[in-house]
Amino acid sequence: MALVKAIRRFTVRTVLPEPIAALDTLATNLRWSWHQPTRDLFASLDPALWEESRHDPAGFLGLITREKMQELALDTAVVARVRAAEEDLRRYLEEPRWYQGLGEDAPQCIAYFSPEFGITEVLPQYSGGLGILAGDHLKSASDLGVPLIGVGLLYQAGYFKQSLSRDAWQQETYPVIDPDALPLTLLKESDGTPCVVTLPLPNGRKLHAYIWRADVGRVPLLLLDSNVPANDDGARSITDRLYGGGGDHRLQQELLLGMGGVKALRIYQRLTDGLAPEVFHTNEGHAGFLGIERIQELMSASEALTWDEALVAGRASTVFTTHTPVAAGIDRFDAAQIKYFFDAGLAPDVPTTRILELGRESYDGGDPAVFNMAVMGLRLAQRANGVAKLHGTVSRAMFSGLWPGFDHSEVPITSVTNGVHVPTWVDPKISSVAETFEPGSAVGGRWDLVFNVTDEQLWETRRELRARLIDDVRRRLRAAWTKRGAGAAELTWIDSVLDPDVLTIGFARRVPTYKRLTLMLRDPARLKRLLLDPEHPIQIVIAGKSHPADDAGKKMIQDLVRFTDDPEVRHRIAFLPNYDIAMARTLFPGCDVWLNNPLRPLEACGTSGMKAALNGSLNLSVLDGWWDEMYDGSNGWAIPTASGKASPQERDDIEAAALYELLETQVAPRFYGASGSGAGAESAGAAGPSTEPPSRVPTHWISMIKHTLSHLGPQVSADRMLGDYVSELYTPAAVAGRRAVAEDFRHARELAAWTKHVRSNWSQVHVEHIDSGGLSEVPQIGDKLHVSAYLNLGVLNPADVLVELAYGRVDDSDQLTDVSLAELEPNENLGNGRYLFNGAVMVEHSGAFGYTVRVIPRHDGLASKAELGLIVNA
Ligand SMILES: *Cc1c(COP(=O)(O)O)cnc(C)c1O
Repeated sequence: MALVKAIRRFTVRTVLPEPIAALDTLATNLRWSWHQPTRDLFASLDPALWEESRHDPAGFLGLITREKMQELALDTAVVARVRAAEEDLRRYLEEPRWYQGLGEDAPQCIAYFSPEFGITEVLPQYSGGLGILAGDHLKSASDLGVPLIGVGLLYQAGYFKQSLSRDAWQQETYPVIDPDALPLTLLKESDGTPCVVTLPLPNGRKLHAYIWRADVGRVPLLLLDSNVPANDDGARSITDRLYGGGGDHRLQQELLLGMGGVKALRIYQRLTDGLAPEVFHTNEGHAGFLGIERIQELMSASEALTWDEALVAGRASTVFTTHTPVAAGIDRFDAAQIKYFFDAGLAPDVPTTRILELGRESYDGGDPAVFNMAVMGLRLAQRANGVAKLHGTVSRAMFSGLWPGFDHSEVPITSVTNGVHVPTWVDPKISSVAETFEPGSAVGGRWDLVFNVTDEQLWETRRELRARLIDDVRRRLRAAWTKRGAGAAELTWIDSVLDPDVLTIGFARRVPTYKRLTLMLRDPARLKRLLLDPEHPIQIVIAGKSHPADDAGKKMIQDLVRFTDDPEVRHRIAFLPNYDIAMARTLFPGCDVWLNNPLRPLEACGTSGMKAALNGSLNLSVLDGWWDEMYDGSNGWAIPTASGKASPQERDDIEAAALYELLETQVAPRFYGASGSGAGAESAGAAGPSTEPPSRVPTHWISMIKHTLSHLGPQVSADRMLGDYVSELYTPAAVAGRRAVAEDFRHARELAAWTKHVRSNWSQVHVEHIDSGGLSEVPQIGDKLHVSAYLNLGVLNPADVLVELAYGRVDDSDQLTDVSLAELEPNENLGNGRYLFNGAVMVEHSGAFGYTVRVIPRHDGLASKAELGLIVNA
């Protein structure tokens, strides 16, 4: 065929006959991406076309001929099923759900901003964990009835498609999407013209963007698209691809996301007569400019607030989530670049110097010329969190420079452990196994039902999932090799790649160096022995994309693929190009063990292991991220971590050796049953797959699966995560936000004035003298320690401060450990700003005991003691 390139393309939408017109609604609402009955309905209309459309309902409808449409519209059974599905969707969208049972404090509307959203492979607007988490957040919000609106960008080429060259080097292509062919609706004014968001750019240029709406169940997702005719070429390509270029390109993406995103929300609110968001959630630093746009709104409004007042009001209702302790994951721009863009009038009422201060790394080791988006995110949000308990601890230490004088444990960053959207990630085979015993019960809630399933039945299901994965692996390998230039005759070996009765290990994730894709290759001979073990063989399926600019990551992929190319092992280890949601949904359920070996503690949470666990796959992981808090000794294995003193080389050696050891002595023997009567024992070499299921069911292994499903199921669910966000962050932020704006911003103005007063007079605050008494001659447990602190507060009042006695054990260098705090009460005004504060505590344990006194600002509008970063330690 000649290559004739079209100069313009458009997508003709199918017009459906009235009796089955609801198919359009069902295809447009992305609930189908996690609602199996809706997918089944589409598939049943024409199974072959459904496969051809790669399970994309909108694409599928486009493939159906007019004749076939007419035929379906005359089929009463089909019409009835379509109507029933539509009715089910309507009910899902309208009926009260969990959130509707909460009290009035819960916010009426929450805006959730994220640079990427991974909802389905049909909308390739994600690169990895961050985006898929955001997608799962929206889906669970929908299921729970949380009134959330998502805000993001629509990238024309999304993230890249990965393939391999003959010599195993990653190749990237960027297929362009056509929004008209996707389940998206363009927001239009009542006269039919598209709604437009406009931002000024330097040199008199302008950036215009359209707003597309995706419906994620009950949750609208607004996506800004700069590919509009009114833009010049530069502005038009701002949303060309996810995390495309560096520097200005990325900065403009983030300006559009944050500032344009708030403008888009306001338009949406106007068109739908909807409620204004009461809480704004900034999912990672990239979206942080939303805070500046909100301050701009407040400063320009008729009841104009000052900068300080607007900052207080905006912060009260903002939640910031940090997602990574890896430096490369945090956006840092030149401060000069920020100034250049804001001087163009992006936020005309906000002084640029104030914006620059928000992102300044004003702590030891910071770079004053840099504008740090995470630092701005923390300063613009009164509430912040990391994404697992360990990550909370790591983040508090990492950002402690912003709250000098406070112990790391008091840094105001909490944690909400990530979760995954159960209906998206549980394979229907697993959910139906549990449902067999209680028809109609949702797997989301009744994980304990797995104990009703017989070992044989569960084992058989696991084998089916493994076998299905193997079919998928062979299909993908064939395609990959064809792309690498191999002819069919060279590929007959692919028919016997992997064995449905061999212990299958999965490893798939992005390929930044800290995730150590190639740790398993540390001792290639040993890995080979494990793969080819005659009694307890293992097989490994691997996938992952490297960032296009990361040659170290690409080299790791190359090393790995070269290992898998070896004819001696290629039937036992495979690398699959182009990891995405579609592959993941077959891969997680098909693996017996999910491997994760990051450099601790750099994996903030990690979610793929959670998805594997939901399908009865056991985790084998370094104690990092979520595994650090959820590993319980019987739901998988912990790969030990080398001590911090080891060099990076030694560390890899030690941890790889521990991994091999675990596989050889624990994992494999248990999978094959202790006696080692494993099927697959005969299949070393390139023997074909065995057809008989193994006769022996490994009881201990299955008990671990049941334990994993019943215990981890509820904990790793995104419903649990959403519940945590609602109670710990969204509701307190809504309460604080409402209070800040009430009575014409009275509280915000008051808190801002008070903060200014306290800050400018804090240097006068001193602890002058401390007296103590009440102890026996030889102090004993049970003695009461009485403390009197003589303070000079300067112009501040006793009510402006919290005075605390900090006490506990002391070490050799007089450092307090295990600190307890007790409040001291103001007792006497001694004149000239001097006050006496008293209090007493009981001595509760023997050994070295010490205490000190500290003073911090106190106001009921502050969310944490450390909030202002002011403290006087005696
Ligand atoms: C879950 C998932 C991720 C994130 O996995 P991590 O374990 O957090 O690295 C990335 N890509 C896809 C396709 C996923 O499904």
